[in-house]
Amino acid sequence: LQQKEISISDIFEGIITQNTAALSKGITLVESTQQKHSAKTQELIEKCLPHANKSIRIGITGVPGVGKSTFIEALGNVLIEKGKKVAVLAVDPSSTISGGSILGDKTRMESLVRSKEAFIRPSPSGNSLGGVAQKTRESIILCEAAGYDVIIIETVGVGQSETAVHSMVDFFLLLKLAGAGDELQGIKRGIIEMADAIVINKADGDNVKRAREAKNQFKKALHLYPIGENAWTPQVLTCSALTKNGIEEVWELVLNYLEISASNGYFEKNRTEQNKFWLLQTIEEQLKSSFYNHPEIKKALSDQLDAIQKHQITPFTAAKYLLDKHKNS
Ligand code: GDP
Repeated sequence: LQQKEISISDIFEGIITQNTAALSKGITLVESTQQKHSAKTQELIEKCLPHANKSIRIGITGVPGVGKSTFIEALGNVLIEKGKKVAVLAVDPSSTISGGSILGDKTRMESLVRSKEAFIRPSPSGNSLGGVAQKTRESIILCEAAGYDVIIIETVGVGQSETAVHSMVDFFLLLKLAGAGDELQGIKRGIIEMADAIVINKADGDNVKRAREAKNQFKKALHLYPIGENAWTPQVLTCSALTKNGIEEVWELVLNYLEISASNGYFEKNRTEQNKFWLLQTIEEQLKSSFYNHPEIKKALSDQLDAIQKHQITPFTAAKYLLDKHKNS
Protein backbone atom coordinates (compact mmCIF):
# COMPACT_ATOMS: atom_id res chain seq x y z
CA LEU A 1 0.00 0.00 0.00
CA GLN A 2 1.49 3.26 -1.11
CA GLN A 3 0.71 6.16 1.20
CA LYS A 4 -0.48 8.37 -1.65
CA GLU A 5 -2.88 5.69 -2.91
CA ILE A 6 -4.81 5.48 0.31
CA SER A 7 -8.03 7.39 0.39
CA ILE A 8 -10.01 6.26 3.39
CA SER A 9 -13.25 7.70 2.03
CA ASP A 10 -12.81 5.78 -1.23
CA ILE A 11 -12.12 2.52 0.60
CA PHE A 12 -15.04 3.13 2.95
CA GLU A 13 -17.45 3.95 0.11
CA GLY A 14 -16.28 0.81 -1.66
CA ILE A 15 -16.78 -1.33 1.41
CA ILE A 16 -20.30 -0.20 2.17
CA THR A 17 -21.30 -0.60 -1.46
CA GLN A 18 -20.08 -4.19 -1.17
CA ASN A 19 -17.10 -3.88 -3.46
CA THR A 20 -14.75 -6.77 -2.64
CA ALA A 21 -11.67 -5.08 -4.06
CA ALA A 22 -12.20 -2.21 -1.63
CA LEU A 23 -12.78 -4.67 1.23
CA SER A 24 -9.51 -6.44 0.38
CA LYS A 25 -7.70 -3.11 0.29
CA GLY A 26 -9.21 -2.16 3.65
CA ILE A 27 -8.11 -5.43 5.22
CA THR A 28 -4.62 -5.00 3.79
CA LEU A 29 -4.54 -1.64 5.55
CA VAL A 30 -5.75 -3.23 8.80
CA GLU A 31 -3.03 -5.85 8.49
CA SER A 32 -0.27 -3.34 7.81
CA THR A 33 2.32 -3.19 10.56
CA GLN A 34 3.58 0.19 9.41
CA GLN A 35 3.15 2.83 12.04
CA LYS A 36 2.11 5.41 9.44
CA HIS A 37 -0.96 3.35 8.53
CA SER A 38 -2.24 3.06 12.05
CA ALA A 39 -4.22 6.32 12.20
CA LYS A 40 -5.81 5.63 8.80
CA THR A 41 -6.76 2.13 9.90
CA GLN A 42 -8.53 3.48 12.97
CA GLU A 43 -10.30 6.08 10.87
CA LEU A 44 -11.57 3.39 8.51
CA ILE A 45 -12.72 1.09 11.33
CA GLU A 46 -14.56 3.92 13.03
CA LYS A 47 -16.36 4.78 9.81
CA CYS A 48 -17.32 1.12 9.36
CA LEU A 49 -18.45 0.51 12.95
CA PRO A 50 -21.97 1.98 12.64
CA HIS A 51 -22.51 -0.28 9.65
CA ALA A 52 -21.21 -3.40 11.41
CA ASN A 53 -22.51 -5.79 14.06
CA LYS A 54 -25.39 -7.37 12.19
CA SER A 55 -23.64 -10.61 11.36
CA ILE A 56 -23.40 -13.99 12.98
CA ARG A 57 -19.82 -14.81 13.90
CA ILE A 58 -18.87 -18.47 13.99
CA GLY A 59 -15.50 -19.85 15.12
CA ILE A 60 -14.35 -23.21 13.80
CA THR A 61 -11.39 -25.17 15.12
CA GLY A 62 -9.93 -28.63 14.70
CA VAL A 63 -6.62 -30.34 14.04
CA PRO A 64 -5.08 -30.25 10.56
CA GLY A 65 -6.77 -32.85 8.35
CA VAL A 66 -10.04 -32.95 10.30
CA GLY A 67 -11.74 -31.31 7.32
CA LYS A 68 -12.07 -27.63 8.26
CA SER A 69 -11.73 -26.30 4.72
CA THR A 70 -14.09 -28.92 3.31
CA PHE A 71 -16.60 -28.27 6.10
CA ILE A 72 -16.45 -24.48 5.71
CA GLU A 73 -16.92 -24.85 1.98
CA ALA A 74 -19.95 -27.12 2.50
CA LEU A 75 -21.49 -24.88 5.18
CA GLY A 76 -20.71 -21.77 3.14
CA ASN A 77 -22.53 -23.18 0.12
CA VAL A 78 -25.57 -24.10 2.23
CA LEU A 79 -25.66 -20.52 3.51
CA ILE A 80 -25.27 -19.00 0.07
CA GLU A 81 -28.17 -21.14 -1.15
CA LYS A 82 -30.19 -19.54 1.63
CA GLY A 83 -29.33 -16.13 0.23
CA LYS A 84 -26.62 -15.26 2.75
CA LYS A 85 -23.24 -13.68 2.12
CA VAL A 86 -20.35 -15.46 3.81
CA ALA A 87 -16.90 -14.21 4.77
CA VAL A 88 -14.18 -16.61 5.88
CA LEU A 89 -11.25 -15.26 7.90
CA ALA A 90 -8.53 -17.16 9.69
CA VAL A 91 -6.35 -16.89 12.77
CA ASP A 92 -3.23 -18.92 12.22
CA PRO A 93 -0.43 -17.99 14.58
CA SER A 94 1.64 -20.99 13.50
CA SER A 95 3.69 -18.84 11.17
CA THR A 96 4.93 -16.94 14.21
CA ILE A 97 6.11 -20.19 15.78
CA SER A 98 7.21 -22.42 12.93
CA GLY A 99 7.61 -19.93 10.10
CA GLY A 100 5.01 -21.85 8.09
CA SER A 101 1.26 -21.65 7.96
CA ILE A 102 -0.79 -24.65 9.07
CA LEU A 103 -4.12 -23.48 7.73
CA GLY A 104 -2.40 -22.87 4.44
CA ASP A 105 -3.87 -22.15 1.12
CA LYS A 106 -7.53 -21.18 1.00
CA THR A 107 -7.75 -21.97 -2.69
CA ARG A 108 -8.79 -25.40 -1.35
CA MET A 109 -12.27 -23.92 -0.92
CA GLU A 110 -12.64 -23.81 -4.66
CA SER A 111 -16.36 -23.29 -5.14
CA LEU A 112 -16.54 -20.70 -2.34
CA VAL A 113 -13.62 -18.83 -3.84
CA ARG A 114 -15.52 -18.60 -7.12
CA SER A 115 -18.80 -17.49 -5.54
CA LYS A 116 -19.66 -13.81 -5.64
CA GLU A 117 -21.43 -14.21 -2.31
CA ALA A 118 -18.30 -15.38 -0.49
CA PHE A 119 -15.19 -13.56 0.62
CA ILE A 120 -12.19 -15.58 1.74
CA ARG A 121 -9.11 -14.13 3.34
CA PRO A 122 -6.13 -16.09 4.72
CA SER A 123 -4.70 -15.40 8.16
CA PRO A 124 -2.76 -12.19 8.66
CA SER A 125 0.83 -12.75 9.64
CA GLY A 126 2.38 -11.21 12.70
CA ASN A 127 4.86 -11.80 15.42
CA SER A 128 2.38 -12.42 18.23
CA LEU A 129 -0.96 -14.19 18.52
CA GLY A 130 -2.39 -11.03 20.09
CA GLY A 131 -1.38 -9.01 17.04
CA VAL A 132 -2.71 -11.55 14.54
CA ALA A 133 -6.00 -11.91 16.43
CA GLN A 134 -6.49 -8.17 16.73
CA LYS A 135 -6.14 -7.75 12.98
CA THR A 136 -8.70 -10.47 12.39
CA ARG A 137 -11.07 -8.86 14.82
CA GLU A 138 -10.77 -5.53 13.04
CA SER A 139 -11.28 -7.28 9.70
CA ILE A 140 -14.57 -8.71 11.03
CA ILE A 141 -15.87 -5.15 11.37
CA LEU A 142 -14.93 -4.37 7.77
CA CYS A 143 -16.60 -7.57 6.52
CA GLU A 144 -19.75 -6.74 8.46
CA ALA A 145 -19.82 -3.25 7.00
CA ALA A 146 -19.50 -4.87 3.58
CA GLY A 147 -22.73 -6.72 4.18
CA TYR A 148 -21.55 -10.24 5.03
CA ASP A 149 -24.21 -12.01 7.09
CA VAL A 150 -22.11 -14.84 8.41
CA ILE A 151 -18.45 -14.48 9.31
CA ILE A 152 -16.59 -17.74 9.79
CA ILE A 153 -13.28 -17.58 11.63
CA GLU A 154 -11.14 -20.64 11.17
CA THR A 155 -8.30 -21.56 13.48
CA VAL A 156 -6.11 -24.45 14.44
CA GLY A 157 -5.18 -25.33 18.00
CA VAL A 158 -1.81 -23.69 18.17
CA GLY A 159 -0.92 -21.95 21.41
CA GLN A 160 -3.87 -19.95 22.59
CA SER A 161 -5.41 -19.37 19.18
CA GLU A 162 -8.67 -21.09 20.12
CA THR A 163 -9.14 -18.84 23.12
CA ALA A 164 -8.48 -15.81 20.93
CA VAL A 165 -11.05 -16.89 18.34
CA HIS A 166 -13.57 -17.87 21.02
CA SER A 167 -13.37 -14.32 22.29
CA MET A 168 -14.43 -12.84 18.96
CA VAL A 169 -17.31 -15.11 17.92
CA ASP A 170 -20.92 -15.78 18.90
CA PHE A 171 -20.76 -19.53 18.34
CA PHE A 172 -17.71 -21.77 18.67
CA LEU A 173 -17.59 -25.11 16.92
CA LEU A 174 -15.07 -27.88 17.42
CA LEU A 175 -14.57 -30.33 14.55
CA LYS A 176 -13.43 -33.82 15.54
CA LEU A 177 -12.82 -37.20 14.00
CA ALA A 178 -14.08 -40.48 15.35
CA GLY A 179 -11.04 -42.15 16.85
CA ALA A 180 -10.30 -45.65 18.03
CA GLY A 181 -12.53 -45.59 21.08
CA ASP A 182 -11.27 -43.27 23.75
CA GLU A 183 -12.56 -40.06 22.25
CA LEU A 184 -11.61 -37.78 25.05
CA GLN A 185 -7.93 -38.54 24.97
CA GLY A 186 -5.74 -35.88 23.57
CA ILE A 187 -8.41 -33.23 23.66
CA LYS A 188 -7.63 -30.09 25.56
CA ARG A 189 -10.07 -29.67 28.41
CA GLY A 190 -10.32 -25.96 27.83
CA ILE A 191 -11.55 -26.44 24.30
CA ILE A 192 -14.44 -28.63 25.36
CA GLU A 193 -15.44 -25.92 27.79
CA MET A 194 -15.41 -23.33 25.04
CA ALA A 195 -17.28 -25.37 22.43
CA ASP A 196 -20.97 -24.64 21.78
CA ALA A 197 -21.00 -27.67 19.52
CA ILE A 198 -18.76 -30.61 18.77
CA VAL A 199 -19.22 -31.89 15.23
CA ILE A 200 -17.73 -35.24 14.31
CA ASN A 201 -16.76 -35.00 10.66
CA LYS A 202 -16.13 -37.71 8.06
CA ALA A 203 -19.21 -39.64 9.15
CA ASP A 204 -19.43 -41.39 5.82
CA GLY A 205 -18.73 -44.85 4.39
CA ASP A 206 -17.24 -47.27 6.93
CA ASN A 207 -16.89 -44.46 9.40
CA VAL A 208 -20.57 -43.86 10.13
CA LYS A 209 -20.82 -46.32 13.01
CA ARG A 210 -17.65 -45.12 14.70
CA ALA A 211 -18.79 -41.52 14.33
CA ARG A 212 -22.06 -42.37 16.04
CA GLU A 213 -20.21 -44.06 18.90
CA ALA A 214 -17.93 -41.07 19.26
CA LYS A 215 -20.96 -38.81 19.37
CA ASN A 216 -22.40 -40.78 22.29
CA GLN A 217 -19.12 -40.65 24.18
CA PHE A 218 -18.85 -36.90 23.75
CA LYS A 219 -22.45 -36.43 24.77
CA LYS A 220 -21.87 -38.32 28.00
CA ALA A 221 -18.69 -36.39 28.70
CA LEU A 222 -20.35 -33.04 28.09
CA HIS A 223 -23.00 -33.82 30.66
CA LEU A 224 -20.29 -33.67 33.30
CA TYR A 225 -19.67 -30.02 32.58
CA PRO A 226 -21.79 -27.41 34.33
CA ILE A 227 -24.22 -25.48 32.13
CA GLY A 228 -22.87 -22.00 31.41
CA GLU A 229 -24.67 -18.73 32.06
CA ASN A 230 -26.16 -18.98 28.59
CA ALA A 231 -28.30 -21.94 29.68
CA TRP A 232 -27.00 -23.79 26.65
CA THR A 233 -25.86 -27.40 26.73
CA PRO A 234 -23.19 -27.93 24.09
CA GLN A 235 -24.50 -30.26 21.41
CA VAL A 236 -22.79 -33.08 19.56
CA LEU A 237 -23.53 -33.81 15.91
CA THR A 238 -22.03 -35.90 13.15
CA CYS A 239 -21.61 -34.83 9.54
CA SER A 240 -19.80 -35.51 6.35
CA ALA A 241 -18.33 -32.40 4.80
CA LEU A 242 -17.63 -34.53 1.73
CA THR A 243 -21.17 -35.82 1.09
CA LYS A 244 -22.75 -32.73 2.80
CA ASN A 245 -24.76 -35.02 5.03
CA GLY A 246 -25.57 -33.28 8.32
CA ILE A 247 -24.32 -29.84 7.29
CA GLU A 248 -27.83 -28.36 7.20
CA GLU A 249 -28.35 -29.69 10.75
CA VAL A 250 -25.25 -27.84 11.94
CA TRP A 251 -26.71 -24.59 10.65
CA GLU A 252 -30.05 -25.30 12.32
CA LEU A 253 -28.21 -25.84 15.56
CA VAL A 254 -26.48 -22.47 15.20
CA LEU A 255 -29.87 -20.82 14.60
CA ASN A 256 -31.32 -22.57 17.62
CA TYR A 257 -28.43 -21.32 19.73
CA LEU A 258 -28.87 -17.78 18.48
CA GLU A 259 -32.56 -17.82 19.25
CA ILE A 260 -31.95 -18.93 22.83
CA SER A 261 -29.06 -16.57 23.46
CA ALA A 262 -30.88 -13.61 21.92
CA SER A 263 -34.00 -14.21 23.97
CA ASN A 264 -32.19 -14.55 27.30
CA GLY A 265 -29.92 -11.55 26.61
CA TYR A 266 -26.71 -13.57 26.50
CA PHE A 267 -25.90 -12.67 22.89
CA GLU A 268 -25.62 -8.93 23.59
CA LYS A 269 -23.97 -9.46 26.94
CA ASN A 270 -21.34 -11.72 25.40
CA ARG A 271 -20.52 -9.20 22.67
CA THR A 272 -20.17 -6.45 25.27
CA GLU A 273 -17.87 -8.62 27.39
CA GLN A 274 -15.85 -9.39 24.27
CA ASN A 275 -15.51 -5.69 23.53
CA LYS A 276 -14.24 -5.03 27.03
CA PHE A 277 -11.76 -7.86 26.66
CA TRP A 278 -10.56 -6.46 23.34
CA LEU A 279 -10.14 -2.99 24.77
CA LEU A 280 -7.73 -4.43 27.34
CA GLN A 281 -6.04 -6.64 24.74
CA THR A 282 -5.48 -3.67 22.45
CA ILE A 283 -3.94 -1.62 25.22
CA GLU A 284 -1.65 -4.49 26.11
CA GLU A 285 -0.58 -5.00 22.48
CA GLN A 286 0.06 -1.31 21.94
CA LEU A 287 2.02 -0.90 25.14
CA LYS A 288 4.18 -3.87 24.23
CA SER A 289 4.67 -2.70 20.69
CA SER A 290 5.51 0.85 21.73
CA PHE A 291 8.01 -0.51 24.25
CA TYR A 292 9.78 -3.14 22.16
CA ASN A 293 9.88 -1.06 18.97
CA HIS A 294 11.35 2.01 20.64
CA PRO A 295 14.90 2.42 19.22
CA GLU A 296 16.44 3.52 22.54
CA ILE A 297 14.73 0.71 24.42
CA LYS A 298 15.91 -1.85 21.88
CA LYS A 299 19.51 -0.87 22.54
CA ALA A 300 19.06 -0.56 26.31
CA LEU A 301 17.26 -3.91 26.49
CA SER A 302 20.10 -5.62 24.72
CA ASP A 303 22.58 -4.04 27.20
CA GLN A 304 20.49 -5.14 30.18
CA LEU A 305 20.23 -8.70 28.84
CA ASP A 306 24.03 -8.72 28.61
CA ALA A 307 24.31 -7.44 32.16
CA ILE A 308 22.03 -10.24 33.37
CA GLN A 309 24.11 -12.79 31.53
CA LYS A 310 27.15 -11.46 33.41
CA HIS A 311 25.25 -11.48 36.74
CA GLN A 312 25.74 -7.72 37.07
CA ILE A 313 22.10 -6.87 37.70
CA THR A 314 18.85 -8.55 38.80
CA PRO A 315 15.99 -8.96 36.30
CA PHE A 316 13.77 -6.76 38.48
CA THR A 317 16.21 -3.87 38.63
CA ALA A 318 16.80 -4.17 34.89
CA ALA A 319 13.04 -4.18 34.21
CA LYS A 320 12.48 -1.12 36.38
CA TYR A 321 15.34 0.71 34.69
CA LEU A 322 13.93 -0.06 31.22
CA LEU A 323 10.33 0.82 32.10
CA ASP A 324 11.43 4.13 33.66
CA LYS A 325 13.51 4.87 30.59
CA HIS A 326 10.47 4.19 28.37
CA LYS A 327 8.21 6.34 30.52
CA ASN A 328 10.60 9.28 30.31
CA SER A 329 11.33 8.94 26.62
P1 GDP B 1 -8.25 -29.17 7.22
O1 GDP B 1 -6.77 -29.38 7.25
O2 GDP B 1 -8.85 -29.34 8.56
O3 GDP B 1 -8.66 -27.90 6.54
O4 GDP B 1 -8.85 -30.39 6.35
P2 GDP B 1 -9.30 -30.45 4.80
O5 GDP B 1 -10.62 -29.83 4.61
O6 GDP B 1 -8.17 -29.98 3.94
O7 GDP B 1 -9.50 -32.02 4.62
C1 GDP B 1 -8.44 -32.95 4.82
C2 GDP B 1 -8.74 -34.19 3.99
O8 GDP B 1 -9.92 -34.84 4.50
C3 GDP B 1 -9.03 -33.89 2.53
O9 GDP B 1 -8.44 -34.92 1.76
C4 GDP B 1 -10.54 -33.94 2.45
O10 GDP B 1 -11.00 -34.32 1.17
C5 GDP B 1 -10.88 -35.00 3.47
N1 GDP B 1 -12.22 -34.79 4.05
C6 GDP B 1 -12.73 -33.64 4.55
N2 GDP B 1 -13.98 -33.81 4.98
C7 GDP B 1 -14.28 -35.11 4.78
C8 GDP B 1 -15.45 -35.92 5.02
O11 GDP B 1 -16.47 -35.48 5.54
N3 GDP B 1 -15.36 -37.24 4.68
C9 GDP B 1 -14.24 -37.79 4.12
N4 GDP B 1 -14.26 -39.08 3.82
N5 GDP B 1 -13.15 -37.05 3.87
C10 GDP B 1 -13.16 -35.74 4.17
